[in-house]
Amino acid sequence: LFAGETEFVKGVVAMSGLPDADRLEVCFAGRSNVGKSSLINALTGRKGLARASNTPGRTQEINYFTAGDDLYLVDLPGYGYANAPLPVVEKWQRLLKQFLQGRQTLRRAFVLIDARHGVKKVDDEILSLLDSAAVTFQVVVTKADKVKEKDREKILDQIRGALSKHPAAYPELIVTSSEKGWGIPTLRAII
Ligand code: GDP
Repeated sequence: LFAGETEFVKGVVAMSGLPDADRLEVCFAGRSNVGKSSLINALTGRKGLARASNTPGRTQEINYFTAGDDLYLVDLPGYGYANAPLPVVEKWQRLLKQFLQGRQTLRRAFVLIDARHGVKKVDDEILSLLDSAAVTFQVVVTKADKVKEKDREKILDQIRGALSKHPAAYPELIVTSSEKGWGIPTLRAII
């Protein structure tokens, strides 16, 4: 992935709206407010490409971006809104399940975990969904700048412990801060 080669393609609310599966793709998932938009903006070098919005309903789309000619970046809707109405949650879960199980060209999911919070129950449910869909996933730790250096290792250990129960987990964590630019070149290289 190179900075500046990314274009928005479309937002999708149903499987029928997905673009043709004519290239490989990687997706990004995470609790709302985890820093997903900021990370995608930092990765792509395009401020405002992924809208930072925390309004449930407005963000219930799967957003597709091209990355060069060979790859799609897929921004999945944030999960775990404190006040999301049940139908919204259920609709999201249904679409996510269909997407993860049915998208042949999906090569890896990046699951974002806030460095201050570690893996929560709602994250763990997504990780189990990825296991059952056999989608290899890798955890991207976000907002690392918000945690004091002396506390960082403890949180990373909590995350590693949580991952050990998930067969689809790629064991290596990517520690990032979109604010400071930490880990962004590493994640670009992996993509
Ligand atoms: P999203 O809901 O997952 O798309 O999260 P956003 O990207 O909108 O970020 C949520 C909030 O966290 C915003 O206020 C961001 O400015 C802040 N944020 C995101 N990434 C970082 C980071 O790396 N460091 C710090 N300190 N704040 C961040």
